[in-house]
Amino acid sequence: MNECLFCKIAAGAIPAKTVYENDVVLAFHDINPQSKAHVLLIPKKHAQGLNDLNALDDGTLSALLRAAKEVARLLGIQDSGYRLVSNCGEDGRQSVQHLHFHILGGERLSDRMV
Ligand code: 5GP
Ligand code: ZN
Repeated sequence: MNECLFCKIAAGAIPAKTVYENDVVLAFHDINPQSKAHVLLIPKKHAQGLNDLNALDDGTLSALLRAAKEVARLLGIQDSGYRLVSNCGEDGRQSVQHLHFHILGGERLSDRMV
């Protein structure tokens, strides 16, 4: 298996607290939550990040957005609101080089993005 942390989580080789899963995506709690609800949503297939979307088919890309809403529903924050974030590259402070979306909520978030 490759050395990518989130590929290992997707394969079950590293444990994670799964919130939602289907054939192509996996959502699990962030190990270092930055809000009361903080879940990571990934494609099971490896893509480096937002600059590498060609690695994924359109079905997977749409599944990610649909899964984000489903995760919010499962977390009970669909109506109170939440934020969907994907850090990209150095300035974006991406630390894991496997495309992922942060789903943040469960409390009133900062009115600033940065
Ligand atoms: P990034 O900084 O790349 O946008 O986000 C990476 C996220 O992955 C961080 O919020 C970090 O806490 C989380 N993370 C790093 N290693 C692990 C891990 O082994 N398990 C889980 N569940 N989250 C992790
Ligand atoms: Zn990967």
